[in-house]
This record gives sequence, C-alpha cells and structure tokens, in this order.
Amino acid sequence: MKKITMIVAMKQEAVPLIEKLGLAQTSDTNPLLPCKAFSGEYKNLSINLVTNGSDSVHGVENVGTQPATLATYEALRLFSPDLIINAGTCGGFSDHGCKIGDVYMGERIRFFDRRIPMGDHYEAYGDSNYPCELAVELAQKLDLPTSIVCTGNSLDMSPTDEAILRQEPLVNKEMEAAAIAWVASHYQMPLVAVKSVTDLMDSEHGTADEFSSNLALASKNLQVEVLRLLDLLAQQSLTQDAA
Ligand code: SAH
Repeated sequence: MKKITMIVAMKQEAVPLIEKLGLAQTSDTNPLLPCKAFSGEYKNLSINLVTNGSDSVHGVENVGTQPATLATYEALRLFSPDLIINAGTCGGFSDHGCKIGDVYMGERIRFFDRRIPMGDHYEAYGDSNYPCELAVELAQKLDLPTSIVCTGNSLDMSPTDEAILRQEPLVNKEMEAAAIAWVASHYQMPLVAVKSVTDLMDSEHGTADEFSSNLALASKNLQVEVLRLLDLLAQQSLTQDAA
C-alpha cells in the first residue's frame, strides 16, 4: 500500500480534508511539539495528515517556515511515507490570471525573502530551488495549472518582495512549501505542493481581509483537488501493484 503524508499548515485548511477522508487524530506526535497528526485509509492508500497545530502563547495557528520544518520532520520520522503532499492556501497576482479559489500545483518551489547578498553561492542558497517533476506530471494528468510556489515568512508583501516575486512568470506566494521541500530533500522524498488561492495580491483589498473572507472557499476547492490527486495516486498504485 502506498503511504502518503499530507502537511497542512492551518486547521481551517485541513478540516475539509480530514472530514472528507474520515481521518482520526492520533497521539503519535511528540506531545512537546505543537503539530497534530490524523490518520486513515483512502482506497488503497494509507494517509497521514499533519497540521502545524496552534501556538500556546498567542492561541493562533502556527504558520510559516519553522512550524512547517518541524511538522515535516516529525511526519517523516513517524510515518516514513512514499510521497509528501503539501496542501495549503496562497496569494496570487490577478494580472497573472489567478482567481480566488483557483488551485495550482507547484512545478518549482523557492524562497522569496531570504536575501543573502554574500556571493553567488549564498544568494542561490537563500533563494533555493526545488523542482517538482512529479507534480508537473500529475498536474498534466489532472489538467491543473502549475505555478512557481514562493515561500516567505510574511503575509503582507513589501515592495522588495514584490519585485522578487515578479521575476517569476506565475507565482503563488505562501509561507511553508520551501521549508517542507528542504526537509524532504534530505530524505530524497518527492513533494507535491497543491495551493489554492485565498487572496489576490494586486487587488485593492488588503491581503489579510481577503484571506479571511476566502479561506473557507479556497479550503473547500483544495479538498476537491487533493481528492482528485489521491484518486489518481490510488489508481497508479493499483497499476504498479499489478505489474
Ligand atoms: N490572518 C490569518 C493568518 C494566516 S497566515 C489568520 O487569521 O488565521 C497565511 C497562511 O495562508 C499561511 O499558512 C500561508 O501559507 C497561506 N497564505 C495564503 N495567502 C498568502 C499570502 N498572500 N502570502 C503568504 N501566505 C499566504
């Protein structure tokens, strides 16, 4: 049976998936860490879903690269999956054709806010670059668009961030994927990022307001597309098992 681990930052993004797949919370994760794990089976797939959990001091969902790094490390240690799916929400530019609720798969993942101007090597390390060949292949089969998923630790966007993001042809800005890709790279683990647009960064509405109003819709669309992805993976795994 193929083992899939999904890393989902926020509870609100994860709930539609947890409910649709009938996943149950497990007590496998280290109780000292904030991340939470949910497990179950779907068709011929064994599924684990790990969220970042909430912050005990501020009572908000943990978002950003440190919680994502920790959750991914804990998930890989506990579940040794065959594949990681990072399902989450993101911002997009309407002048790139993005619309609220559109779902993309990351053809490449990078950071946009780790500027280390200390020569080519540090600059390239800061930006990082994680090509996701498997995601491109799967996106074609699912007829989903692909994007460059750009990760940083701020929800709003400074002019410097925007200039960097606009160097890429079609970007989705979010806060976890590149951290997850970094951990996955140590395990040579394939990563598929699926991102649903909650906010248009070039609209006149504030990102935070748009994010909150559209989170439920984007999370529902995310669930629908992740399920199509799981159906495809289940089908592929059946064919592989039969071969
Ligand atoms: N204001 C929100 C905080 C969400 S932080 C709240 O009250 O709960 C944003 C989360 O959504 C992160 O996990 C990030 O990956 C994703 N995200 C969605 N749109 C984003 C954007 N425009 N920029 C950065 N992250 C975004």
